[in-house]
Amino acid sequence: MWMDSSLRWGTHINEICEKSYKLLNILKVLAGSSWGVHPIHLRKLYISLIRSRIDYASFLYATGAKTHLNKLNIVQNKALRICGSFIKSTPIHVMETELALPPLFVRRHWLGYKFWLRVASVSNNQTMQSVVNLSSNNCNYWYSKTKPILIDVHNSLKEEDIHRSPLLDMYSLNSWVTSIDVKSCLCLNVKDVNNAKRNINGSVLKCLTTYMLKTDYEEFHKIYTDGSKDSRGVGAALFDSKFGKTMFWKLNKNICIMRAELIAITKALAYAVTLNIQKIVILTDSKSALHHLARCVSGTRGMPIAYEVLKLVCILQQRNVAVKLQWIPSHIGVPGNETVDQAAKQAIEDGTEIVCNPYANEFIGRIKSDCVTKWRNHFENCSGSKGIWYKTIQQMPSLIPWFQTTSLSRPYLVIAFRMRSGHVPLNKFYHLIGMKQSPNCMYCDKVEDLLHLLVECGRNCNLKQRILGDMPLYNGNVNVILSQPGSRNARRLYLWVKVSLTD
Ligand SMILES: [Zn+2]
Repeated sequence: MWMDSSLRWGTHINEICEKSYKLLNILKVLAGSSWGVHPIHLRKLYISLIRSRIDYASFLYATGAKTHLNKLNIVQNKALRICGSFIKSTPIHVMETELALPPLFVRRHWLGYKFWLRVASVSNNQTMQSVVNLSSNNCNYWYSKTKPILIDVHNSLKEEDIHRSPLLDMYSLNSWVTSIDVKSCLCLNVKDVNNAKRNINGSVLKCLTTYMLKTDYEEFHKIYTDGSKDSRGVGAALFDSKFGKTMFWKLNKNICIMRAELIAITKALAYAVTLNIQKIVILTDSKSALHHLARCVSGTRGMPIAYEVLKLVCILQQRNVAVKLQWIPSHIGVPGNETVDQAAKQAIEDGTEIVCNPYANEFIGRIKSDCVTKWRNHFENCSGSKGIWYKTIQQMPSLIPWFQTTSLSRPYLVIAFRMRSGHVPLNKFYHLIGMKQSPNCMYCDKVEDLLHLLVECGRNCNLKQRILGDMPLYNGNVNVILSQPGSRNARRLYLWVKVSLTD
């Protein structure tokens, strides 16, 4: 970062801009309106080459001078225009929504939130101490200044009890995480079941599961575990089928279901440690929890609770106890699974309460929806004066670009973008920018805009009839068709506009 004494961030932002303009040239040579790299790839290139630079420490320089910040907006807008070959008059909020790239101020908030959560998950963190001091009511420093994003974020999340630990949990194990042997104890499938659960008849699955429990685990002490989450809260339970013993716990309502499943497994293993047994199998219906454990052992950073599971597995293995974590299908009537399922549901109401604060990443959903709301409000505000046609086609921004799942090639996508945004290079537009004397159509002597071309234009009658057929076209229906940009009818519109434009 380039610091300056006034913290207006001019130097830093100018440096980013200089680099970004060089990279924008790469995007420019990769695409034109009728040729070049597909917008999906251009969008990815923009994100990885340019936006990553803009992102770096962006939540810190967000308090910089508006004139400087605006230079970055211009970089992003230029990139959007290149990716989608939008014409110059297209409003910015329309391009952002069409390419599913949020405005930079939303992006800065998102990164600020994520940074705060990462800092908050470590206890006694120095940065957090400074943020706390700067945001306290006694701190008059921000009285007449824009508050930094971190302070805003801190104020909105400081009441939350977030799980804090002094060090990364993978280092709390006695041995290095990848040297733990869980491969032999994780069983993610039921024997002889090769298809996905939904493709197999329930009673067949039940037979196979019961058969597996009888044969493979005949001598094992069986403990069933389950987690449950609904609008009332979260619960976890275990059921020891040998002693007919059930235990259940009420958990923090903000934690995710996979964590509840892992808590249940931890409790079951801790219970197994107290028993004097040689063979133990934990039966869970959560495949994702077992997959998560497998990922942790491969070195990926996982949830802290997963390392608790690994610790207990190690303890049991050191005592030469055979430990298995076996997945079994749920809701097919396996007796132990049904019992524990009921217990987990009951736990939400009256289980023994245990303290388990949500992990930082369990807030991701909440901060995401907060940022999406910011973007939506911005889109609504902008749509009041510009991009009114677009608003009738696309009601609100989406996080995934619509063209990701269609098979349209670049030339057709560009036409789709232009038609949906309502900014198509026809005579009306050329007249506005002073390139043509008349805004009228060469054939009909009426103003040539998109609706004219689609609805009333008399050029190439036969061809138009062949392409569009008897599709009902009028103002009010065209936007309905364009709101499903991958549909057959929409494609026919693109084809007609493409033919007309290349005339
Ligand atoms: Zn015409």
